[in-house]
Amino acid sequence: MSETPATTSNPLLAAWQTPHQTPPFAEIQPEHFLPAFEQAFADHAAEVAAITHDPSVPDFDNTITALERSGKLLTKVSAVFYDLVSAHSNPAILEVDKEVSLRMARHWSPIMMNAVLFGRIALLHENRATLGLTAEQMRLLERTYTRFHRSGAGLTDDAKKRMAEINERLAQLGTSFSHHLLGDEQDWFLELGEHDRAGLSDSFVAAAKAAAEERGMAGKAIVTLSRSFAETFLKDSARRDLREKVYKAFVARGNNGNANDNNEVIVEILALREESAKLLGFPTFAAYRLEDSMAKTPEAVRGLLERVWKPARERALADRDQLQQLITQEGGNFQLAPWDWRYYAEKLRQAKANFDDGAIKPYLALDHMIEAAFDCATRLFGITFAERKDIPVWHPDVRVWEVRGPDGQHKALFYGDYFARPSKRSGAWMTSLRDQQKLDGAVAPLIINVCNFAKGADGEPSLLSPDDARTLFHEFGHGLHGMLSNVVYPSLSGTSVFTDFVELPSQLYEHWQERPEVLQKFARHYQTGEPLPEDLLQRFLAARKFNQGFATVEFVASALLDLEFHTQPASASRDVGAFEQAELKKIGMPDEIAMRHRPTQFGHIFTGDHYAAGYYSYMWSEVMDADAFGAFEEAGDIFDPATAKRLHDDIYSSGGSVDPEAAYVAFRGREPEADALLRRRGLLEEPAAA
Ligand SMILES: [Zn+2]
Repeated sequence: MSETPATTSNPLLAAWQTPHQTPPFAEIQPEHFLPAFEQAFADHAAEVAAITHDPSVPDFDNTITALERSGKLLTKVSAVFYDLVSAHSNPAILEVDKEVSLRMARHWSPIMMNAVLFGRIALLHENRATLGLTAEQMRLLERTYTRFHRSGAGLTDDAKKRMAEINERLAQLGTSFSHHLLGDEQDWFLELGEHDRAGLSDSFVAAAKAAAEERGMAGKAIVTLSRSFAETFLKDSARRDLREKVYKAFVARGNNGNANDNNEVIVEILALREESAKLLGFPTFAAYRLEDSMAKTPEAVRGLLERVWKPARERALADRDQLQQLITQEGGNFQLAPWDWRYYAEKLRQAKANFDDGAIKPYLALDHMIEAAFDCATRLFGITFAERKDIPVWHPDVRVWEVRGPDGQHKALFYGDYFARPSKRSGAWMTSLRDQQKLDGAVAPLIINVCNFAKGADGEPSLLSPDDARTLFHEFGHGLHGMLSNVVYPSLSGTSVFTDFVELPSQLYEHWQERPEVLQKFARHYQTGEPLPEDLLQRFLAARKFNQGFATVEFVASALLDLEFHTQPASASRDVGAFEQAELKKIGMPDEIAMRHRPTQFGHIFTGDHYAAGYYSYMWSEVMDADAFGAFEEAGDIFDPATAKRLHDDIYSSGGSVDPEAAYVAFRGREPEADALLRRRGLLEEPAAA
């Protein structure tokens, strides 16, 4: 067949004729990306060169606003590409990813270290008080200056050259890390024969069958290493030998001495991060990273983590003794091992709170929880949701809703991609295909939530665990941060805020999910439609604080290790496993608990530097979210309109256009109080009597 313009045209370079100009996923093939990126890099480089060499005197419009207008194609192509890399990849896409991550670093380094461009920005920054800027413009100028400065724009030529090399190598390493992790997760499964299912719920077995079918093993049932699968199995399976297998495979991801091993990758990443921090004048990467955060210093982070660590560890140790007691009572002649914790904790919870997750799951059908998440947003912010079947998606399971504002006007599209599959990386996240802005007319955002819930088999609905339901609300909270965004400039849109602030809108939203007002209405039995019985509801709420010592310990240990990796000399962690062991020993980590993310699977901090020396952010934000929800409790109504309006105006719609500390104080009228976090986790009270 001869090549005609029609067959060679690249959908990524065309104007999209779809409703709301959404990406036409069916037309986009892996081979379209590299040429589209080449074009996008070239366009952007030309735009930046024009700004840099603009003969007119630098002003806000010809420099800062012009930068905001640049790179539209790159933003557009990147958004589609990274959505697919994370949520629906294949070998061809992953191959392109290797190339793109390198090209991306090569593209950005000369821009972010461009001395002439930085000269223009620095001049404006110096004269910022005299420019007559709006508050948002002032914030944008400060953020732009800081970003260039922190990227090394003020360094000597030699240092810049080295910095550029480091950036390239780090980009490659981050990509390798995530590909390795995905590889180890795709490779492993445990087949469950008829006799291997003791303790497992029907819905779990159904999901295990669906997972097998997804991998071309129809008729079988398998456990995979996706977190919700592995953790549910560890909690429910009565087969101690199989629990051990699943546990060991789960914590060994990236650490198997095979082609997917991440140890060497980590050593090199840490050394390069340290070198780049030193080039920029900081003693450690953590000092560099945290300067541009709410926490500001490693000491402040350590202070918060240690404050939480002590009571959490004590609680976990007390719980451990109770679990051991339970084993002994049952006639078990063994010591509690890490693969036993979740199983016996669940038994203890059933005994004490008379509650098990399995009892509530039939009331937490995915569709009902989506409805609940939407309804809370309607009651708080007046936005409404209507499903659209005409929007192109990247996988048939993806659903799309149109979001309208209180005025009935189109506000956003919301994409929900909820089910686990081999082409998706693990975890749950929010991202966007297009961000809100109104620099040149209003642009409505395209917001995505991706989760890894187990799909129901044979047309049965997907039933969520309480943790899954919480994850759904968490990611939807991030989604609202993107959908409600109301800023002028694209780089300040939605979730473009400090990492230790970005979890506030998400974690705060979780609070509504566990409120009786919400559960009574939406937690209906998926078969009978009956509402959650009052007694089960009360037991569920009481059980929420159960095992919080464990949950806090597994989180804080990961956060502390992240901090140590980035504050100690990189040479100290040349043997990653030994470093991990030594640090855990130092903090008195209970042997029976594993970190939530061991180093070789710690994608947060090694697939890119977004959460590097920043994993503490969840807890930093939790100090605020626990305290923030108190504003609604004090008002006596979890949908109190006046409080909701402040929440909308000061937090969910303001993106990065205001200083986060000021935003919080504007909403709450004061600084947050850390005790609210300990109270919410039940760590301020005495441990329950044995
Ligand atoms: Zn989050």
